[in-house]
Parts: sequence; structure tokens; C-alpha cells
Amino acid sequence: MIDFKQFDSLISMTSYFNSEEVCKQAIIETRWGIGEEQDVVCPYCGGHHCVTRKDGKFRCNHCKRNFSCKVGTIFEDTNLSLQKWFIAMYLISSHKKGISSCQLARDIKVTQKTAWYMLHKVRALLAQDDAEGFCGEIECDEVYIGGKEKWKHQSMRTPHTQGRSTKTKTPVFGMMERSEIENEKGEMEYMSYVRAMVVENTNRDTIMPIISQFIEEGSTVFTDELNSYNQLSTMGYYHKICNHGALQYVVDGETYTNNIEGFWSHFRRMISGCYHDVSDEHLQSYIDEAVYRWNTRKASQSERFEDMFSKSIGLIKQWCDIRVGLEEIA
Ligand SMILES: [Zn+2]
Repeated sequence: MIDFKQFDSLISMTSYFNSEEVCKQAIIETRWGIGEEQDVVCPYCGGHHCVTRKDGKFRCNHCKRNFSCKVGTIFEDTNLSLQKWFIAMYLISSHKKGISSCQLARDIKVTQKTAWYMLHKVRALLAQDDAEGFCGEIECDEVYIGGKEKWKHQSMRTPHTQGRSTKTKTPVFGMMERSEIENEKGEMEYMSYVRAMVVENTNRDTIMPIISQFIEEGSTVFTDELNSYNQLSTMGYYHKICNHGALQYVVDGETYTNNIEGFWSHFRRMISGCYHDVSDEHLQSYIDEAVYRWNTRKASQSERFEDMFSKSIGLIKQWCDIRVGLEEIA
């Protein structure tokens, strides 16, 4: 099996994946194994009795269909070389603030339209996993995307023209778990994980079901003074409020939402620096990308590439698996 640890730089990655054949072999090995252990599964019927054809494709003895290793992956139905796809995934996973379609187009010599399409396909792989929940200490916060004043700190906003009006802005709700991760030196250091989503509004009826879906009862939830949160303590959570309206930012040393606000500003930089403007239609996929970058920010480049590679061929090895693994070691 391929050791992804060796891909710690673009040069090591491109010198390994130096032909279409090597790329195909990597997909086959990762999907179905190698040698006697190999078990090719038909992407159409799920049958296991597949034979390799002379042209390198496979034939399913059950449904009698032929297929290549690209069927069922994000590379299906594209004429782009796998090398370009792999380099694109590497670049997308290595740029902390994202990469624009113009930049990607120049880097791998495709048209901007093609690069835009590739970015959208890759972004679709980064969708958040609904099976993951949070517990412990969680900060919750809302932001409004769109409109000139959208990113200003609340104390800087002009009254009545901005804030929580959804007329020109899209509300986004976010949760952040305060956590720890073991670094290379074996020391525990602060880490946080985010989940964020576009919501219809920030009313209690919208926000509370999300909180009960993703945050375990008994957790401590830090919020601002928005009324939508005021039933949290009756729902089995410890609720701590930081009153931003009264310009309170840190109460008793732990009651604050500064960490999640750090995520919002990371998201803002990604959008303004890279994508300039985002339509409502695509907003969730940009949020997913920002969340992915945030939650994997302490992973190595080769780990991020491996994760993205696995996702691209449908293995969806969620980041939480690696995270759980780290916790088990610790
Ligand atoms: Zn079949």
C-alpha cells in the first residue's frame, strides 16, 4: 500500500505520481487492495466477482458490465488527467486560506472554468459529517453574511441598519468544541473543532433543534445574549452567557465566544482573499471548506492529502476517525 507520509511536499508528490498509470494504480490499490488480497467490487451492483481485462479495466461477472477504476470517484466523467486532479487536490489541501480558480488554472494549466469546476467537485467532498457531535465546552455563535457591515464587530456597527436583519444577509450558525490534541512532542495543546451551517433564521425554533442534534446533553454551552438561547438550561445544558450588548467579552475567565469568532474571521479572510464574493447557493460549500481547513489545521500536509485522496475515491475516511485515534493514543 502507498505510504502517504512520503508526500510531505509538492515535489515528492509529483515525482511519485509521474504518469497516468501510477495514478490509476494508486486508486486501485487504495480502493480494492493489491495482489492476492485484492477484492475488486463492482461499482454498479456491488458484486465481488470481477476480472481484470487486457485494457486495464474490470469486468463484473455478475452484472456483466465493464468499468474503470474511476467509476464511482470524483474523477469519473472527466477527461482531465489524474495527475492534474492529484496536483489540484494537493494544492487545495495545502493552501490554508483556499486557492482561487484563477490560481489553480495557472498552476495546473487548465482553463479557469475547468479549475472552477474542479474546486466545486473537491469542495463537495468536504461536506460536514452529520454523525459527528460535540461534548464538553462548546461555544455557539451566529453571523450574517452579505451586506457591507457584515463583518464588523458588533460594537462598531451602525444601529438599525445592520445586525440581525435577514433582508440582505444570510444567517450562519456555528458551534465550536474546545478540545485538546497531542502535538509532535507528546504534549497536549489547545485545539478546537467547528461545525457551521447556513440557517433560515436565528430564532429559537431553528437553533435549538440544531443544538440538541449536535451537542450532547450535560455539556457547557457558551453563547451571547441572543434570546434564542434562553431555554438551554431547561434542555439539560449548562448555559453561560457573555453579554456582548453590554460590551462583556470575557466573563469569569472562560465564558466567552472569542474562539468561534476567530473561526468567523478565518472564514472572512478565505472569502475576501480568495473567492471575493459568494452566492447564497454556494455559501454552504464554502463554509464546509472553511470548517474542513479549521478542523484539520494541525494535521500535516501529507495527512490532509491522504484524507482528501480517500474522500475522492469514495472511502470517506472522516477526519473524526483520525481524531478518535489520537484520543485513544493519548
Ligand atoms: Zn456488477
